[in-house]
Amino acid sequence: MALSDGHAGRSEHALLQVRPEVAERFAEVHPPLGAVAALAEANRCLYCFDAPCAAACPTHIDVPRFIKKISQDNLRGSALTILDANILGASCARVCPVEVLCEGACVFHRYNQEPIHIGLLQRHAMDAFFQDGAVLPKKSSTEHTGRVACIGAGPASLACAAELRLRGHGVKIFERQELPGGLNTHGVAEYKLRAVDSLREIEMIRALGVEFAFGDEIRGEAALAQLDKDYDVIFIGVGLGEMRRLSISGEQLSDVRNALEFIAGYKTGGNVRVGRRVVVVGAGNTAIDAARAAKRLGAEEVHLLYRRGSRQMAAFEFEYEDAKREGVLFHWHTQPTAIHATESGEGIAAVECRRVKENESGSSAMEFLAGSAFRIPCEMVITAIGQSPLLELLKSLRGVKLEDGRVQVERATGRTANAKYFAGGDCVNGGREVVDAVADGKRAAVAIASVLEKANVRGSHVQS
Ligand SMILES: Cc1cc2nc3c(=O)[nH]c(=O)nc-3n(C[C@H](O)[C@H](O)[C@H](O)COP(=O)(O)OP(=O)(O)OC[C@H]3O[C@@H](n4cnc5c(N)ncnc54)[C@H](O)[C@@H]3O)c2cc1C
Repeated sequence: MALSDGHAGRSEHALLQVRPEVAERFAEVHPPLGAVAALAEANRCLYCFDAPCAAACPTHIDVPRFIKKISQDNLRGSALTILDANILGASCARVCPVEVLCEGACVFHRYNQEPIHIGLLQRHAMDAFFQDGAVLPKKSSTEHTGRVACIGAGPASLACAAELRLRGHGVKIFERQELPGGLNTHGVAEYKLRAVDSLREIEMIRALGVEFAFGDEIRGEAALAQLDKDYDVIFIGVGLGEMRRLSISGEQLSDVRNALEFIAGYKTGGNVRVGRRVVVVGAGNTAIDAARAAKRLGAEEVHLLYRRGSRQMAAFEFEYEDAKREGVLFHWHTQPTAIHATESGEGIAAVECRRVKENESGSSAMEFLAGSAFRIPCEMVITAIGQSPLLELLKSLRGVKLEDGRVQVERATGRTANAKYFAGGDCVNGGREVVDAVADGKRAAVAIASVLEKANVRGSHVQS
């Protein structure tokens, strides 16, 4: 890994702090297909002319085409078909909830048969591409003079930057952290995507000529004014901010962690400490990931609390089933009301909870059942009740409109109310999947390239 230009921070070596026994516990949930199995699976595909799988993919990868190429033993051709639509095709093959996207749309469901394992086939082609050196052909031999700044090095900005470079535009990504990849590197469960695999993919994008500045947080009017002066267009791919707080007593205790810190801690920080008994608060995919990680790191009991019922939880059904299988205990209609410290005041002794009256109306009103208070003894609490938007930064972007903390854009182009700013990913959609961020980034890049090329012909500048 040579992510070094302008790189004030750490290198891949920091990731090696993840101990070997931890790597073992985070073994991939979907191991790769062997060559023979991949060929057999590819030959099972019906290559539907209307390709419902491709329509269900936010980046519209031509699924029948890439699978056909695998069946013809043309793995590079297959990978290039994937990459043409989705530059993060390798990580998406691992992290996409294929059950509700491409594989969920496979026609085999109509005949009560196993859908084609599209995710595993995509991974098969992408793994071969990386083993072969991961060299991408350029889309344009023309070098343009336009310069674009991307704020944040998550999937949205990476997809935007790669597409612009492939079209011959200059791009620099500014990232506040010391490693790129956003949640792909720091947030997605290690048993789906290893941080090193996320970085390997970004190295391919860097090799296109995308520049990076790490440890460089863009904040305040002066920094934005400088970007405005130095760049023709700015892409906002900052994702979301901190986890929301529970706002209950005891939350300040040191073993109350938020899920993002906890996951990033074991993935890239070498912090694998976990309580013997852990309480996770929340029932989205992040809560499930944190609960399953706590189990893998050695917690004997993991309790997950959610104030509503199983039908209202935000996590995917298949993630919930996996967590149950791994022994996570679910407490529905349960709200934590306080976190109690041990007698010495140093650690956590228990979480105090109350049962919540069932409320199917969807309103957020909460009524506790009388006499329902109880305690769950534990040593660690992990909060996962959603991320809040990065309001301070977003509000300082001149002329950019927000609604409920989300950047407002024109859907087809990612253009904001200020013609010089484009945006995509979680900061626009409020938090979805990696593949949605990639789709946004690429769509914006195509629109930005068109704006830059028109401005170039006219010899003018993009006006705010
Ligand atoms: C715990 C967790 C697990 C997930 N698991 C999955 C999964 O399994 N599959 C899936 O498809 N999706 C998953 N997601 C969702 C997915 O990770 C996100 O939708 C996706 O990463 C969004 O990409 P993004 O580029 O918009 O934002 P991010 O990935 O959040 O990247 C934003 C980047 O911007 C940087 N940044 C922010 N502000 C500034 C600033 N002012 N200056 C410079 N840099 C800045 C941040 O440090 C970050 O690196 C998960 C999310 C979480 C929280």
